[in-house]
Amino acid sequence: MNAETLKQAIRDVPDFPKPGILFKDITPLLADPKLFRTAVDLLADRHAQARIDKVAVIEARGFTFGTGVALKLGAGLALIRKPGKLPGRTISASYDLEYGSATLHTHTDAILPGERVLLVDDLLATGGTAAATAGLIEKLGGTIVEIEFLIELAFLNGRAKLTRWPVFAPIVY
Ligand code: AMP
Repeated sequence: MNAETLKQAIRDVPDFPKPGILFKDITPLLADPKLFRTAVDLLADRHAQARIDKVAVIEARGFTFGTGVALKLGAGLALIRKPGKLPGRTISASYDLEYGSATLHTHTDAILPGERVLLVDDLLATGGTAAATAGLIEKLGGTIVEIEFLIELAFLNGRAKLTRWPVFAPIVY
């Protein structure tokens, strides 16, 4: 089973969550155990021989795939969350969205200096979310081994914001 098969299980939802956005809905893929497993394998197996200390996952759909990746690789998990969710001391980064801005937090001890980190999210759009998150990981002293997405919307050129890091996405639109 390959990325092309997975693509067929991603549903396009026009005008969600706002007019003009074509939302890539991964829930049909998650509902099929073989497809879900393949998605996690595609992100995890390429790092099977590498030392990965932590998988950093971005709320909320990054949690879905990144948790599977961490379990397969024997790595710990670092949660990157929206404001008000993490109880301990956090560091945060704010970044611009199409309309307005957003902030993400992580615990200051989520990544230890020198740890090798995979950053996982479901989808690369403009790249603002991943760039801000990668900055947080580096601020804590982590080394980004790769930023991985299941899906890339290449026409939005999100990679332009991520040129400092290796980027991988098996499904490209
Ligand atoms: P960006 O910062 O623009 O790269 O946005 C990435 C984040 O927004 C990811 O966490 C995605 O889950 C979500 N996202 C952005 N655009 C879409 C889309 N068309 N379909 C589904 N999710 C999206």
